[in-house]
Amino acid sequence: MGRWGERFFGGDSDFDEASYISEDAGIELFYYEADKHDAEHPMGGKGLEATRDHLNNSVLNRLFEKYSAEKSENLFYGKPLRLVHTAVLAMRVGATIEPNTQILFPLFDTGFRAPMKEQFEVALVHYKNDGTPYDLFADRCKGPGCDKANDELEEGVTLKKCGKCQDVSYCSKTCQKGNWPEHKKLCKTPEQRKAEEEARWAGSPFVMLNV
Ligand SMILES: [Zn+2]
Ligand SMILES: [Zn+2]
Repeated sequence: MGRWGERFFGGDSDFDEASYISEDAGIELFYYEADKHDAEHPMGGKGLEATRDHLNNSVLNRLFEKYSAEKSENLFYGKPLRLVHTAVLAMRVGATIEPNTQILFPLFDTGFRAPMKEQFEVALVHYKNDGTPYDLFADRCKGPGCDKANDELEEGVTLKKCGKCQDVSYCSKTCQKGNWPEHKKLCKTPEQRKAEEEARWAGSPFVMLNV
């Protein structure tokens, strides 16, 4: 049940989980936007506020209780991951996660690994839990222990991309410097990346034939 290398909603199984949990909740949780995907999803999107209110009306707590009592062997990815998915779906709409629920989350090794695990841990720290929806895919500062998104920065400060690779963002020079020992191993200009890619193909035993 490994989830190596994937982020949330990077694989079909996440959407299977999302629709399973949605059915349990009685409301579409992934495609929550009103009138969107109605044709494909029998429950349809009811909009962000309605979805959040529905979960806050003791539905979310019922799901957490149910899934934490489930026998792991009956589940595809196991109980821990279903609890995590439930939490993630709740965060997307800003539903209230009771502090005592957090002990249910499997922040130990259960096949729930980086980068999905890291993404979830960052979400738990940065989730405001005051009704503000959490954007799982927001750009975040890669500075050591920073993880701040644009809406968490001071007025007038915005994240800036690494000028060389354009792949990672930082909120300050301090964060950029702090991350450099790690980042320099991966940081390449688009031209360097292209050249490496071509060199890899050139060394391949397969030759393109002009037929
Ligand atoms: Zn930072
Ligand atoms: Zn870079």
